Amino acid sequence: MRSEEVDLIIKNCAILPMSRLGMVKEGLIAVKDGAVSYVGDAVSAPELRAENVLEGQGKLAMPGLINCHTHLAMTLFRGLAEDATLKTWLSETIWPLEAKLRPQDVYAGSLLGCLEMIRNGVTCFADMYFYEHKVAEAVEKAGLRAVLASGILEVSDWGRSEKMLKEAVGFAKRYRGYADGRITTSLGPHTVFACSEELLVKVREKASQADVGIHIHIAESKEMAEKIGRESSSSEVELLEKLGFLADDVLAAHCIHLTHEDMAILAKRGVKVVHNPVANLKLAQGVAKVKELMDAGVTVGLGTDGAASNNSLDMFESMKVAALIQKAISGDPSALPSKKVLEMATVRGAKALGLEEKVGSLEVGKRADIILIDLKKPNLTPLHDLCASLVYSAHGYDVDSVIVDGEVLMENREVKTLDEEAVMEKAQDAAFSLLKR
Ligand SMILES: [Zn+2]
Repeated sequence: MRSEEVDLIIKNCAILPMSRLGMVKEGLIAVKDGAVSYVGDAVSAPELRAENVLEGQGKLAMPGLINCHTHLAMTLFRGLAEDATLKTWLSETIWPLEAKLRPQDVYAGSLLGCLEMIRNGVTCFADMYFYEHKVAEAVEKAGLRAVLASGILEVSDWGRSEKMLKEAVGFAKRYRGYADGRITTSLGPHTVFACSEELLVKVREKASQADVGIHIHIAESKEMAEKIGRESSSSEVELLEKLGFLADDVLAAHCIHLTHEDMAILAKRGVKVVHNPVANLKLAQGVAKVKELMDAGVTVGLGTDGAASNNSLDMFESMKVAALIQKAISGDPSALPSKKVLEMATVRGAKALGLEEKVGSLEVGKRADIILIDLKKPNLTPLHDLCASLVYSAHGYDVDSVIVDGEVLMENREVKTLDEEAVMEKAQDAAFSLLKR
């Protein structure tokens, strides 16, 4: 029998496909034209040959992690404005620095973010920022997959917000399908408090017309949530519902300060929520009731938020913290089991980004976004419960290889698409010169 030629084979690996297939102990994955063409038991695999073969002995293949909410270029602000409230952090440090950002700074910070995510096994992320075309360029170079939104802020200047909305729509149309289809786009209104009702209605209209989603922060700050409550006698979610803003294409970061009625509205409208546990704890904003949201039927993904409020882009850390704090706030150790947390970082994350047909699990026909974890590590020995070990014991540095769209971005911890030294040096220079300007 003649063997079939494919582009890439990963052999002798264990596989956690995050699909109905279930765990495979001695597996094989084949990739052709950027998609998974075989995943399963090595003994059941057809005869295959490929020029590129990765040895998976002692390693676990699983879907790449999906970071559903970040602001990549904020890696430049990592470690600034520590121990500050959200309001002080934003108004006294972040917004004044962002006003001085240049497109090349965003590019340098985004490349650094891409490098950090590749090293930590993140293959896909959702971003909202300024000069988003520079984030797109960084994503193209790094080889990652992303959903990008150009940010829209009003701050009592209608002329400025009109311009930002126009730019955001232009970006969403122009960059949809960019980087060989790895980039999809959405619109990024910042928050209810940074955008007027009139602007939010316009964003909704434009998103529907352009057939792109919306990426927004909802109910992050208790102070802001209370202010909106006083001024409009409704919650942020109720206000957005009244405006006709909420739909299944809305990705809502945080959603900490919600009532049961708010959760029911989000579930009814199919709004997707991103939980960002580390950033929420660090800015002392509280903890989203993830279990209740999931029980209400809401799809919840996981994110890091920007590196300025986290201060890393390590999704392994976010998985662990997510699991731990749900136990702490509920007093129930089974509140968020490790399997569910892994789903938040993979299949549920893919659904939150509207990419569930393409990524999130290892299945034939889906794009080949795969990571290999080195299981021969002290912190992963002995391996009694794989899901628990991945959530509670693994770290980003246990990721050995990263593949996106069938392309190997990192192999044996060596990043292939970026010059690590140069990326770090340029980002450091950009950060320090920004502070001096
Ligand atoms: Zn954010």
